[in-house]
Amino acid sequence: MFKKFLKAFIEFWNYHVEDNTTTLDILKEGNQQFTSYILHSAPVSNIDRVRQMATHGQNPQAVIVTCSDARISPERIFNAEMGDFFIIRTAGHVVGALEMGSIEYAVTHSSVDIIIVMGHENCGAIKSCIEDHKGTELGYIKDILHEVQPSIDKAAKETNNNFDLLERAEELNVYHTVNKIKSSTILKPYIESGKIIIVGAKYGIATGKVTFFDDTITCPINYNKTT
Ligand SMILES: [Zn+2]
Repeated sequence: MFKKFLKAFIEFWNYHVEDNTTTLDILKEGNQQFTSYILHSAPVSNIDRVRQMATHGQNPQAVIVTCSDARISPERIFNAEMGDFFIIRTAGHVVGALEMGSIEYAVTHSSVDIIIVMGHENCGAIKSCIEDHKGTELGYIKDILHEVQPSIDKAAKETNNNFDLLERAEELNVYHTVNKIKSSTILKPYIESGKIIIVGAKYGIATGKVTFFDDTITCPINYNKTT
């Protein structure tokens, strides 16, 4: 069993090392497979992977910061495996001190080389802030509102209908989270040296497709999208 695993691992490793494939390439390919109904062909079964990670520890390749929305499952939509991602999830993918600490931990204690901030279509956290504030000011929900509201305000200056407002606010909220992550003094040297890249993205609830933003390093208000 171990030999079989080792052989599969070496093949997997060689494939990704020899052709200079980046983690972002792997994620894009994984999402392409997911939307094409191509089933995951992991080198080992999940339970073998669990045992292997229990012995050798975790070594995620990417940090995924995304919404808690139940329709999003990062491992599935990138056709990845258990242990591939260090995941931070909150409603509206807002990040505060605790989430920032988790991201800093992942970057400083593993070999991740990319942070993906992934918003999504029809984000309930943003939608409820736009359409109806009822309940959003209760308890700790107001803290989420506080984080999301600036993106809605910015989007409102650019758009004149609710559909565009939601869509634009979702995208600006991705940039908001990216900028917050970039503000970390712990992460700064990793970003400046190119050891870590931060990429914004948006998940299509109806299509399963992830659209990556191509210019999140500078996070301008006006941006171009790429797939
Ligand atoms: Zn959401």
